[in-house]
Amino acid sequence: MSKVAHYLQEHLLGEVMTSADARNYFATDGSIFTITPSLIVYPRNENDVRKAARFTWQLAERGRIIPITPRGSGTDHGGAALGNGIMLVFPAHMNRIVELDPKNGIVVVEPGLNYGRLQQTLHTHERFLPPFPASYEYSTIGGAVANNAAGEKSLKYGTTRGYVKSLRVVLANGEVVETLRLNKRDLNKKLGLNTFEGEIYRAVDALLEENRQHLEKLDMAVTKNAAGYSLADVKRQDGSFDLTPLIVGSQGTLGIITEITMETEVYNPTKDLFLAEFDSIENAEKAVLALRDLPYLPSAIEMVDGQLLELVDRINPNQLKGIVTKPFPKAVLLVEFDDVDRQRKKLVKRAQKIIEDYAAHHEYETDPAAQARLWKVRHAASSVLSHSEGRLKAIPVIDDGVVPPEKLAEFVTGVYKLFASLQLQIAIWGHAGDGNLHMQPFLDIAQIGDRQKAFRLMDEYYKLVLSLGGSTSGEHGDSRLRAPYLQQVYGPEIYAVFQKIKQIFDPYGTLNPGVKIGVTLGDIKPLLRTEYTLRHFYDHMPRS
Ligand SMILES: Cc1cc2nc3c(=O)[nH]c(=O)nc-3n(C[C@H](O)[C@H](O)[C@H](O)COP(=O)(O)OP(=O)(O)OC[C@H]3O[C@@H](n4cnc5c(N)ncnc54)[C@H](O)[C@@H]3O)c2cc1C
Repeated sequence: MSKVAHYLQEHLLGEVMTSADARNYFATDGSIFTITPSLIVYPRNENDVRKAARFTWQLAERGRIIPITPRGSGTDHGGAALGNGIMLVFPAHMNRIVELDPKNGIVVVEPGLNYGRLQQTLHTHERFLPPFPASYEYSTIGGAVANNAAGEKSLKYGTTRGYVKSLRVVLANGEVVETLRLNKRDLNKKLGLNTFEGEIYRAVDALLEENRQHLEKLDMAVTKNAAGYSLADVKRQDGSFDLTPLIVGSQGTLGIITEITMETEVYNPTKDLFLAEFDSIENAEKAVLALRDLPYLPSAIEMVDGQLLELVDRINPNQLKGIVTKPFPKAVLLVEFDDVDRQRKKLVKRAQKIIEDYAAHHEYETDPAAQARLWKVRHAASSVLSHSEGRLKAIPVIDDGVVPPEKLAEFVTGVYKLFASLQLQIAIWGHAGDGNLHMQPFLDIAQIGDRQKAFRLMDEYYKLVLSLGGSTSGEHGDSRLRAPYLQQVYGPEIYAVFQKIKQIFDPYGTLNPGVKIGVTLGDIKPLLRTEYTLRHFYDHMPRS
């Protein structure tokens, strides 16, 4: 065992592991990459996290860099939950609901808590967290906060960032801070601190002031955007200041989250649901835009395309039986309303009119069991993810582009052309209401030809997304995979601000290096695995 492992074992309460088995297990996440950590720590409490960070800081001061990668369930699609140093694995012990106030819906949690378990608990109090990712049953709340996760309900409710009130964060040097919105007076107190925290407040404040005019470029025409660092809401017009929105979505590159305080929404299990079939993507887009124009947004406008239906019909036909029949439409939308107030009836009526105007056929359900049957069409996307055709697997390389909703049809048509030019099979699903679509090409990443194809596809795809005024990621984050494209999303001035942010919080580069900032395609190409499997996730799937 290395000296580092010995030191940590002696000083931490949590387990420290260096066995080849443990290191191999944590050498993959949901991405196409692999990096073997040198040791694994299961922190028991915040103090363990603090000590680990303090230790790596002291080594860094002496010129030895040992990266720290915080990890939830490792479902990250872009390799952000990988690292070659210390892997801090939170679900083992730091997985509790610390406090839940059902009256005001505020919940305080540790980061390793399973998202599904939290959601179930909230439901029993008639509350819920709306921006849950599709992977919520087997991922953690800490991972969702660090990735600023979003999902099918984000159209109406927004992303995770909107629900995080405050955070406890271990900084690169082991100091523990609490982030929350500060008024001018409290900000001044922070600015005067003679600590690393004080340095961070002073440097971030100065950086935002110096770059006011560049920061306007952060505001893109997309409804959600997980690329880069979120600087827009740190300092408000009224002078108030909050580092929370910056830490949310920072993927472990600015600090390690040890406690999260979140707001929740009232949960209404009664919903109205439409399933609408369209003869063309253009008609589906028209319906999406008209639905977005309603006085209140639907709680979901989700899509699967005809190509996905064809594929699912081939690999798992029972999933569509009695719901959508052949010849398949070009697109299916699921449109849901969950409002609690009396407005809902009116809204549903107006939505019905829109759907009748543009759809070739539709169904409408209020009964929960009948609705669950319709949702099976959207959830059929998971059959695509777990399917393999010989050695070909659906791999996440262009899984999360987002464009302005009025570019939806252009986006889909462009993607069809791109896949056809590379002779690849296509299937599209995702959040049509947000212009955020998912797709995973079938490739064998053991083959050099397919590896090259994956990178050609990425280049062309991200060019397409950016040409439509979109962003490389709506909800999954830059991670390692999309980090090389980050400068193209915002341009050199904003990218330089992001680099300075990273430098302020992490001067020695110990916090999850190789993620988000300072990454080239040359850095990530050697990290490709030779086999892509989902084996890893099944360990986290709920079992009864
Ligand atoms: C099939 C599938 C579907 C998915 N669907 C969605 C979706 O709908 N929406 C969506 O947003 N994402 C989705 N994802 C991506 C991913 O599952 C989510 O972002 C999820 O929230 C990550 O949680 P996790 O516990 O697995 O985090 P991990 O993968 O373990 O980590 C994710 C990031 O968070 C950081 N992190 C973890 N814990 C901490 C901490 N305590 N402090 C600081 N940083 C930390 C890690 O370093 C890493 O950068 C999907 C992934 C898969 C495989």
